[in-house]
Amino acid sequence: MPPAVRVVHPTPDVARGVEYWEGVPATVDGVLGGYGNGTLPRIDALGSRAFLLRVLPSLSSTPPVAYNGSPDEWRSERIKERGGKGMCVIRALDCGAGVGRVTEHSLLPLVDEVHLVEPVAKFLDEAKRCSPAWAPLKSSVADSPFYARKGVHFHVSTLQDFDLTRPVDTLPPTWMADETPEPTSELPLVYDVVWCQWCLQHLSEADLKKFLRGAQAALRPAGPNYEGGVIVVKENICREQVDGSESSWYDDEDHSVTRSQRAFERIFAESGVSIVRSEVQNGFPDELFPVMMWALR
Ligand code: SAH
Repeated sequence: MPPAVRVVHPTPDVARGVEYWEGVPATVDGVLGGYGNGTLPRIDALGSRAFLLRVLPSLSSTPPVAYNGSPDEWRSERIKERGGKGMCVIRALDCGAGVGRVTEHSLLPLVDEVHLVEPVAKFLDEAKRCSPAWAPLKSSVADSPFYARKGVHFHVSTLQDFDLTRPVDTLPPTWMADETPEPTSELPLVYDVVWCQWCLQHLSEADLKKFLRGAQAALRPAGPNYEGGVIVVKENICREQVDGSESSWYDDEDHSVTRSQRAFERIFAESGVSIVRSEVQNGFPDELFPVMMWALR
């Protein structure tokens, strides 16, 4: 009998990971490791919004091709479904939010309320400072496609320590220019989108499984006109082993772990979440790791 081979996966160092990010400038270029000023941010946001709309077509602000009535009829039906004018119902969580880049360009154009969770306080301070100028928050309720009242909440925490359903605000939330701040949303919270981008490399396998299970339990259930909330994982992937089996790679610089597609998909299966859709993000510079997007529920 061949000896049993125990595969030892490298594991991130959470505290040293956060320490690494504390030393990075609180800018888009900083959180993107020097790729903040080229085409990457635009390509990323376009790819993310297109992916999200394919998974949750009900977030779209244009009627489906098959719709029989007029766009105005469709719009008023949607407003009614969303609880009426000035309501705020579609909610996302931005995990490892950095300075709020994903919230501003990928999430807030499509959802009403975003909760940013990020362990580095200076990144969130910067997000808070810039947030009144984010286009969807600068506009008024009357200008938003479904008359939605948009806002963002800020939580300083690692994902490991974050309570998804009962988050505590670290800084005052930012609302649209013409809206008065409301106290906290109703608890426990449910999410339409739990977006994890370039941050799951800081979670060990055990922490990642725990997080995925918790996120799945916090998704908004499907309804008659609704597909149901999703977890989106948008992460770098490394190559599988030469024999095709999964691999993971420890990064000495930020003390994180990059996983292969197989490694992620095994972890998803073992966490009890199913893959609804997956795509490769095209158009990023060749020297970077390939980036995969998965929608899970
Ligand atoms: N998602 C953002 C930022 C990516 S940079 C974007 O795409 O623009 C990686 C981010 O993960 C940093 O902001 C870093 O502080 C955060 N991070 C590091 N350790 C984390 C942890 N344990 N939990 C959550 N986020 C973490």
